[in-house]
Parts: sequence; C-alpha cells; structure tokens
Amino acid sequence: MTETILSSKEKTLFGKETNPSNIEPLKLTMDSRITFRCHPGVSCFTACCGNIKIILTPYDILMLTRRLQMPAHEFLQVYTEPTYLEKTDMPGVMFKMRAEDNKCPFVTPDGCTVYSDRPTACRYYPVGMADFREGGSKDADGNEITAEEEKFFFLVKEDYCKGHEEDKTWTVAEWRADQGVDVRDEMNKKWLRLVMRRKSFGHQASLSEQAKRMFFMASTDLGHFRRFVFESSFLQTYEVAEDIIEKIKNDDIELMFFSFDYLANTLFGAQVSTMTIREEKIREKVVAIKARQDESILKAVEEYEELKKHRKTGG
Ligand code: SF4
Ligand code: SF4
Repeated sequence: MTETILSSKEKTLFGKETNPSNIEPLKLTMDSRITFRCHPGVSCFTACCGNIKIILTPYDILMLTRRLQMPAHEFLQVYTEPTYLEKTDMPGVMFKMRAEDNKCPFVTPDGCTVYSDRPTACRYYPVGMADFREGGSKDADGNEITAEEEKFFFLVKEDYCKGHEEDKTWTVAEWRADQGVDVRDEMNKKWLRLVMRRKSFGHQASLSEQAKRMFFMASTDLGHFRRFVFESSFLQTYEVAEDIIEKIKNDDIELMFFSFDYLANTLFGAQVSTMTIREEKIREKVVAIKARQDESILKAVEEYEELKKHRKTGG
C-alpha cells in the first residue's frame, strides 16, 4: 500500500491524546520508513511524559501491578483516575498526573521508572495506529473484523519532540518490534474489539449500569474478576471446561483473555469457545420471560374487561 492522505474521519485508536494538527496527514504501512530516535541524550528527554492522557488497557494494569507488587484496587486508587474509552460510555482508567507538575507519576529526570512495563500508549508514541473502521465489518459470529488490511499508521510530530531530528531510520514494523508494541497489540486485541464494537453502536443502545460496572471490574481488577468467577454463582450459570478452569485459577493472562470472552458474551451476545450458558439456566430464563409475558397478557385482558364494563355502565 502506498502512503495516502489520512482522512479527517479516521481517528487515533487510543494512546496519548494529542492535537490532531500534529498528526502527519499520511497513512503509513508496516513497510513505511520513519526517521526517529528517542534516548536520554535528547534535549527534550521526558518532555512527552506530562500533561497527557494515557489510557490503560487491562494488560497494562496487569503488568504495572506485577511490577509494583500492588493489588489492582490499590494501584487504581493511587495512580489512576476514571475516564471513558474512545468516546463511548465504557468506563476505564487513565494515569492520574501528579498534582504538583502535571506529569506522569512514574517520570523522573532520569527517565521512566517503569520503562520495561510502560503502558501501550507510551510504546506507540510517536507512531499512532488508526481507528478500526467505525461500525466496521463483522464476521459470521458478529465479531468486528480487525484484519491487517484495516490497520494503518501515522506519525505524530510535536514541535517539542526532537527525536524526529535524529538520524536513525527504520520501518514502522521495526519501530513497533523495538518498542514491544506487537506483543501489546496481541494482548489488547480482544478488549479493544469490545470498545470499538461499543463505539460502532453509537448512542443507539445504552449500556446498563450493571453492564458498565462489570466491564470496569473485569477490565481493571483481575483479582476481583477471579473472585467473581470462583466465589459467585458464575459457574452455576456458565459451563466452563475443567482444563480452562484450571488455567484461569492460576494464570492471570489466561484469566484476562477469559474475561474478554465473558464481556463479549454478556455485553454483545457473542458466541465464545470458553464458556456456554448452562441449558437449565436458559430454560429458567425462558420460563421467566414467558411468565412475564403471561402476566402482561392477563393484565391487558383485565384492562379490556374493565373498559367494557365502563362502556356498559356508561361510566
Ligand atoms: S509510564 Fe513512563 S514512558 Fe509512560 S508517560 Fe509515564 S514516565 Fe513516560
Ligand atoms: S524525543 Fe520525543 S519521545 Fe523522546 S523524550 Fe523527547 S519528546 Fe519524548
């Protein structure tokens, strides 16, 4: 694909929110070449780590809580603040900038203190990835298609960032591999698909408060989600294979992927391979719906009879 001009409808997927006028109006591919280098010797070192909105993905939170050896709820309280994801009503978190200097809580004059576990958004910079098509294509199961050909990249060039003046040249693919973006993309893919799917719904359907709470809990606190799976009636409602249960008991990454499946199923009714609603629960639900319907039919009949009575008596 040749480099083409970015349309104003195509927006940043997520990441450091930036003034759109700093986005180079060129669509880049994995093979496009960029000239950029960031290192402690640049005069602007850490200038990009303040006054910025850094949204955290579930994998970002998992990696940071492991590094800091902090439970998620404590991490969320100390280092984050709530936000909405990608102009949807889906709740998420972003770094809370320090009150004294409006900078990231992990930046020091010597650089980032969590560098090898820095969030996805920090790894992307200054190469952004464009939005998946809004209301994009869907596969047979109704899942958003996020095929390679629907992705493209662009360069963010801010005046203060001197990395663009360095003489290192690489392809977008090389830059992304160097920054560990590919691994993050793989980890974030299913979760981002949920957010993009919600975005494609626009305001047509509102998400219940309970659904929003569930999305937030599963996306930000895996310890809480694990307790929900093993200490609530979850396993009486869903059938989950023994080997999957064993995996998610001890493996946080497996649990995270499982939580994405759960959200896809519960928020969008997607069929997922890791869990199915138990037959008896479906039957119970059908009986409950039918009872509600019967009730409303009876009520309608009663109201009709009442109306007839009134007509006869001239009331
Ligand atoms: S996490 Fe590190 S790289 Fe990201 S904004 Fe904070 S200090 Fe900068
Ligand atoms: S070169 Fe750019 S990315 Fe690197 S520290 Fe400076 S402003 Fe940040």
